[in-house]
Amino acid sequence: MHDYKAPDALLKDRIIMVTGAGSGIGRTAAKTYAAYGATVILLGRTISKLESVYDEIEAAGHPKPAIVPLNLEGAAVKDYEEMAMTIEDNFGQLDGLLHNAAILGQRTPVEQYDPETWNRVMQVNATAPFLLSRAVIPLLRKSSDASVIFTSSSVGRKAKAYWGAYSVSKFALEGLSQLMADELDDERHNIRVNSLNPGATRTNMRAHAYPAENPATNPTPEELMSSYLYLMGPDSKGITGQQIDAQKK
Ligand code: NAP
Repeated sequence: MHDYKAPDALLKDRIIMVTGAGSGIGRTAAKTYAAYGATVILLGRTISKLESVYDEIEAAGHPKPAIVPLNLEGAAVKDYEEMAMTIEDNFGQLDGLLHNAAILGQRTPVEQYDPETWNRVMQVNATAPFLLSRAVIPLLRKSSDASVIFTSSSVGRKAKAYWGAYSVSKFALEGLSQLMADELDDERHNIRVNSLNPGATRTNMRAHAYPAENPATNPTPEELMSSYLYLMGPDSKGITGQQIDAQKK
């Protein structure tokens, strides 16, 4: 998977949503999926960032994307349901969903962790992916080959001191991923659900978490894309309920 070479038309005619598509790993994943033929639905909270991804995809001559402005911190159940209806009206189905948006919160001991920040992190990182998944499962069912990817973290598999709600939210995502993989693994086998840990990656989030680190020591999001393509495309059919690492250990 880490050395996977995707064929040019891997994601042709697929409708794929990426959350947090305006920056970091999500931005690169959205552009990569479009470059391999997908129509990408760009979800995020900062419209100007989404517009610049949109412009880059359009300028490269890839399938025209769509923008869904949504703040995962404040979005209500009906916002997700309306969004799902809009996707159904425009595209009829959903073939891929990369849950990528997240916030870091505080890096501090539990004893000092601010409860409001805890709630915000849990809302964006864990509850929002639940609400979004819940709303679009009917659209995934309409696909003949759909892939759902939950973006995890090494602290979502083994907790480490001071990672607070971020760590707990990623454990929750691992649970949601396994739950959905089991529930959706019916006789059609048309929806696979996995968690993917990108590992240390050169983004703003990593720089905030490790301010003293030289960013050049970590791979760029572009360097992870073989794993992101493999899991999103048809070559990973049959793989479900797994915890996957985007980088070689
Ligand atoms: P990033 O550069 O901070 O990007 C996070 C994205 O999430 C941004 O596009 C951000 O939008 C969006 N987002 C945050 N809050 C949101 C909200 N309330 N509503 C909608 N969108 C929201 O981080 P990254 O490093 O690319 O991280 C991507 C994923 O990889 C995350 O799930 C992260 O936990 C995971 N991860 C990263 C690393 C790493 O080393 N970088 C390691 C392990 C796991 P704005 O740009 O508008 O703020």
